[in-house]
Amino acid sequence: MRIILLGAPGSGKGTQGEKLAAHYGIPKISTGDALRAAVKAGTELGRKAKAVMDAGQLVANEIVIGIVEERLGQDDAKKGFILDGFPRNTAQAEVLDAMLIRLGQPGISRAVHLAVADEEIIARLLDRAQKEGREDDKEDVIRHRIKVYNAETHPLLDYYGRQGKVATVDGIGTMEEIFARIVAVA
Ligand code: ADP
Repeated sequence: MRIILLGAPGSGKGTQGEKLAAHYGIPKISTGDALRAAVKAGTELGRKAKAVMDAGQLVANEIVIGIVEERLGQDDAKKGFILDGFPRNTAQAEVLDAMLIRLGQPGISRAVHLAVADEEIIARLLDRAQKEGREDDKEDVIRHRIKVYNAETHPLLDYYGRQGKVATVDGIGTMEEIFARIVAVA
């Protein structure tokens, strides 16, 4: 299983990605988590990424591609993986396809799109802001991230649609309901 989770910020990719990884016994690879870990550790990469992330913009392709390439090359990713937050634009998707060929791995099996309306996304992220205090969960930054998603990431539905790999799942419901919907189409 080589699954990509597509969906706006706050659509539940992280939560469902964890559950899917546990269910299928494969790693969840999240570029957002990796970048936040780098910021927290104060590495050079983290210092470079922080301002960009706090502004709700996309970190440079070379940086996230490097993170994913390193992680996909590890042994536990050979039998499958869940990608959360990558690819986020067409250039990243093209590099990912080429990378899997280079690594001698089968291609992506499914791109699961978690569909959640913008107003719900904003409400969820504002709620998360209060609980987790993420720097990028401020209303103006949230709105910018949604814009970036619609402009850069949403077109990936066409990219993977052309490959016949997209499954759209209603992202409104309980965690378990949504999980069951994903497993049914994965
Ligand atoms: P969310 O889905 O809620 O926006 P993420 O953890 O996926 O949260 O991403 C947080 C931030 O990390 C993004 O706004 C962006 O700055 C950066 N980021 C994560 N993944 C990528 C990626 N694939 N390409 C570029 N930037 C990324």
